[in-house]
Amino acid sequence: MIDTLIIGGGAAGLYASSLLPDAAILEANSSCGRKLLLTGGGRCNYTHSSSVTDLLEHYHGSLPFIRKVLYSHTPADIIQRMENLGVFPEDENGKIFPRSGRAEDVLNALLQHNPKIIHGKALSITKEEDGFTVETEKAAIRAGRILLASGGNAYPHTGSDGSGYHLAKCLGHSVTPPRPALAAIALEPSLKDAEGVSIEAELKKGKKAVLGMAVITKRGISGPASEDFSYLLSGKEEITIRFADPDMKALRKEKGAMLLKNALPLPPRLVQALLGSIAENRIGNISKKEEQYIYERLSGCHFNAYPIPASAMSTAGGIKTAEINPETMESKLVPGLYFAGDIIDVDADCGGYSLTWAFATAFIAAKALRR
Ligand SMILES: Cc1cc2nc3c(=O)[nH]c(=O)nc-3n(C[C@H](O)[C@H](O)[C@H](O)COP(=O)(O)OP(=O)(O)OC[C@H]3O[C@@H](n4cnc5c(N)ncnc54)[C@H](O)[C@@H]3O)c2cc1C
Repeated sequence: MIDTLIIGGGAAGLYASSLLPDAAILEANSSCGRKLLLTGGGRCNYTHSSSVTDLLEHYHGSLPFIRKVLYSHTPADIIQRMENLGVFPEDENGKIFPRSGRAEDVLNALLQHNPKIIHGKALSITKEEDGFTVETEKAAIRAGRILLASGGNAYPHTGSDGSGYHLAKCLGHSVTPPRPALAAIALEPSLKDAEGVSIEAELKKGKKAVLGMAVITKRGISGPASEDFSYLLSGKEEITIRFADPDMKALRKEKGAMLLKNALPLPPRLVQALLGSIAENRIGNISKKEEQYIYERLSGCHFNAYPIPASAMSTAGGIKTAEINPETMESKLVPGLYFAGDIIDVDADCGGYSLTWAFATAFIAAKALRR
């Protein structure tokens, strides 16, 4: 019988295993950390240098739970832990990367203690009196305790295909339905004539707003604003986008002879995509009614929007935090079952926050499992 079986050799599973010499990892792929290698464009933005108070703004989920986790293993602790493993930090406006600029070095550092890795996919978990039995295609594995770190369902070709949700459900856990996060957004109608334009924009749904850079695509928008906003959309929903708050009176006074598309502080192709033929009018010739229309289109343009699943880098939803003890990451329903990483119902903005979550939850679970 294995003392602790970690299901999933991704960021969270590997971080935990580096602290648990007696644990074994069960990994569905032929190699560990496939998603980790893709992070930060291959450079791995593994945490963020801000204080925990500032960090909290970038997470979505149960705030008391998130706070407890992030204060238990802070970004400073992660940086220190990585240094102990031989990875030194490079700070780029708060985003922490390995100085070498290679995600591979983070992966190798986490693997350097040669964890015992069993290759196979967990198909089911059964709770027994003295532990668990995990069925794979090839064998049944007996383990005293389980750390379920099988990720969410974003980028399923890296191995995190959402099968962990099924395993947890079979043990009685409830799962907030997973939905795409850190994703590009499709807009209806699209602004495809402005494809390639990069612009600061504010995306709004009800009272929630995200301000950031957006890149107009054929189908909608991508870039930081879209990534940080996408978790708010569960299916197709109405949103507004603010591109500018033009002072029409001042424009009429100062730039009356100019074409509207050249007078606004926006790329002309975007003005055309938003306003059609009005963009070709001289400002002095624009009627009061058109002025109102222009203001509304630029400062609060309505779209139907939905996240594009294939572009999602993370998952919102997952195992309900009310069923997990944040002091230990142990299930409140099934003693001996622990969780870490993306599988939990918490997601975060772009900027090293997701890996911070994976590492912090893994640390807490490992600490409890070592006792
Ligand atoms: C392109 C991209 C770029 C990103 N960049 C960043 C970044 O720079 N900074 C940042 O903070 N976050 C980034 N993220 C998010 C980050 O990668 C994830 O938050 C993190 O990998 C989650 O770690 P995890 O261990 O929970 O899950 P994963 O890393 O997804 O690992 C889960 C592992 O479990 C295995 N598994 C799944 N099901 C089973 C099963 N049934 N049996 C056995 N094994 C199983 C999978 O094969 C996988 O190896 C990025 C994501 C993507 C897709």
